[in-house]
Amino acid sequence: MTATVIDGKAFAAKVRGQVADHVARLKEAHGITPGLAVVLVGEDPASQVYVRSKGKMTVEVGMKSVEHKLDADTSEEDLLAVVKSLNEDTEIHGILVQLPLPGHLNEDLVINSIDPAKDVDGFHISNVGLLGTGQKSMVPCTPLGCLMMLRDHHGSLSGLNAVVIGRSNIVGKPMAQLLLNDSCTVTIAHSRTKDIQDVVRGADVVVAAVGRPEMVTGEWIKPGATVIDVGINRIDAPEKGEGKTRLVGDCDYDSCAEVAGAITPVPGGVGPMTIACLLANTVTACCRANGLAEPEGLTA
Ligand code: NDP
Repeated sequence: MTATVIDGKAFAAKVRGQVADHVARLKEAHGITPGLAVVLVGEDPASQVYVRSKGKMTVEVGMKSVEHKLDADTSEEDLLAVVKSLNEDTEIHGILVQLPLPGHLNEDLVINSIDPAKDVDGFHISNVGLLGTGQKSMVPCTPLGCLMMLRDHHGSLSGLNAVVIGRSNIVGKPMAQLLLNDSCTVTIAHSRTKDIQDVVRGADVVVAAVGRPEMVTGEWIKPGATVIDVGINRIDAPEKGEGKTRLVGDCDYDSCAEVAGAITPVPGGVGPMTIACLLANTVTACCRANGLAEPEGLTA
């Protein structure tokens, strides 16, 4: 079998298009422009790249984009004051504090200072609790993107056996919760899981969020299963020249694609969906804040 490739780049473009349509309707019918504020502390190069592309795409879909760039030695008090001002700003519907924060800042404290209704990353403890109890919440962007692709591919996920490899708060746990809410039978595998290959081989849906390059091979995959590869790992690529690198996922693409029914590539799979879902969450937050109908298909 050769797997169907789930094209995250194309899917993300479709989601951004839906967001842009909804933003245009909000402006036309209600005179409201959704606004997203991103707060970056310090000069981590990867974070700067993320923040730039978030800002660019926010503007492209017609939303207001605000960036707060703070020095690496910003005090917790000053950062909390910025978050507070954004919480109070009625033109801002989504707030994202780019992680990781410099070591002297308490991430939990900062994230939990964001108004949960504006917490478009879905990391606030209230949103974690709401998701965990199957209530309306802001859902973390990467797992939301995975869910959208899975729903699109399968239609209903009800009754499928799903294995999520990884139990982080930002990917693994919310992913498992979302699959459970969609009536999958969910197993979470992690570094202490015994006979992990056998566990994964029982899955109709595998979501790998581990951070170990090409760990999952075709032998782990049940024939016909859907494989969602969240991993982004940079490895040496001497074949491309000295000192060159390339990106790979947590799944060995070639061997998994021979067995799976469908698979997301890396790059071009889950990655592009993350920012698309951030935009989707912002428009959802804006609709909720204004008591308007939420865009269909863009929430969990
Ligand atoms: P974390 O490091 O926070 O979590 C990794 C998880 O993998 C842990 O639960 C760990 O288990 C588990 N794990 C580690 N080694 C093994 C192993 N040998 N067997 C089974 N499980 C193992 O990572 P994140 O969840 O933040 O990210 C996971 C991957 O997803 C990374 O490659 C990251 O770059 C990528 N990512 C991609 C995003 C995107 O937009 N596409 C967004 C976010 C992340 P334990 O808890 O027992 O230690």
